[in-house]
Amino acid sequence: MVIKMNPDHVVTELVVLGATGSVGQSTLDLVRHASAPFRIVALTANRNIDLLYRQAVEFRPDMVAIADSDVADDQTCQKFRDLGIDVVIGPDSARIAVQQPHDLTIAGIVGAAGLSATFEAARLGRRIAIANKECVVCGGDLFIQMVKQHHATLLPIDSEHNAIFQIMHGTGTQHVDRLILTASGGPFHNWSIDKMASATIEQALTHPTWRMGKKISIDSATMMNKGLEIIEAHYLFDMPADKIDVLVHPQSIIHSMVEYQDGSILAQMGTADMRIPIAHALAWPNRMSTPADRLNFTALVGFSFETPDVEKFPCLRLARNALKCGKSAPIILNAANEVAVASFLDRRIGFLDIARIVEQTLNQMAIESVSDLAHILVVDMQARIQARQHVQKLSA
Ligand code: NDP
Repeated sequence: MVIKMNPDHVVTELVVLGATGSVGQSTLDLVRHASAPFRIVALTANRNIDLLYRQAVEFRPDMVAIADSDVADDQTCQKFRDLGIDVVIGPDSARIAVQQPHDLTIAGIVGAAGLSATFEAARLGRRIAIANKECVVCGGDLFIQMVKQHHATLLPIDSEHNAIFQIMHGTGTQHVDRLILTASGGPFHNWSIDKMASATIEQALTHPTWRMGKKISIDSATMMNKGLEIIEAHYLFDMPADKIDVLVHPQSIIHSMVEYQDGSILAQMGTADMRIPIAHALAWPNRMSTPADRLNFTALVGFSFETPDVEKFPCLRLARNALKCGKSAPIILNAANEVAVASFLDRRIGFLDIARIVEQTLNQMAIESVSDLAHILVVDMQARIQARQHVQKLSA
């Protein structure tokens, strides 16, 4: 397990990557309600300048980073500067934000767009609260090596991985037989494949238990999210793929489980509120209070578990295969999925086309070893080009 048990000092200074997103906003809500003060060193966003500005007024960071230069005109930047805040602009801006001295980086950018900033945080030996699963999926062994080499610390805040981290706290995987990732099953859990073929964006975005950004919500509907999480768990906890199971648990109360060699199974539970795992990382190795609702066991209507249907949700199979192939396969899987999800959200393809595009892209591209971050980004770009061609054919 790469999580370094190094509780040297209490976290007070934060860089929030993806501050305007769902994870970023949950993080800032915890800061807002925290009894011990946190200082915000930098906030980053892509295009949502209005929200970033409101956050800047409230939290007074030293710096804001805006990835999309189209939205950062002189007048906009001046508004931040009038607050005494430095502004950095462009695709590399989040990486620059990470270079500011701070205690904890919240890696909350969605997709491979978060790769270079999160790699930079690892290179600088930071403590990283990682939500950006695509970074772990694409970075794979290279990212983990970077973390180890530079004595960085990874604290998972994806709820399943945070659950496993909480369960295994300091004990390692030596006596672990298997990790059991729970899955809500998403909005189409009880739908037929025929019905899923005509699923609308609105239906796909309506997650039954969690409120999240659009990309991860669609990933939950296709169950690619769980596929990405299998890969993430493999790298974070150094567990072989065949020791990572998925169990559909529609109530989203158990966030994951660890089965030990003696037959004991430990589960982590709580309401479906991302502020709980984020608070765990903010306060680690201590605890902090949160405004999250508490579980009321006597009000629970059921507690059920099912094996996922891989025929209905082929993304699970594709992700497992990509992990088995290793090398560049997870990068291709992720890039093709990002293109396909964006195309579905643009109403260019149907819901079932998402998995088709990922599969076609994976089948078409040669799987190669990757040597460094630059190489990962090249594979990512090539896979996007291929995936876009498939989108074009399907939407013609
Ligand atoms: P959102 O879509 O809500 O937010 C994404 C954030 O990333 C926004 O701040 C967005 O800026 C920023 N961003 C988007 N594109 C770029 C880019 N090209 N360069 C720089 N910044 C960019 O996503 P979520 O918060 O839902 O998810 C973030 C990550 O956390 C994902 O990897 C997801 O899988 C993971 N995660 C999320 C959970 C959740 O509950 N939301 C749960 C577990 C994991 P802007 O707003 O300006 O577009």
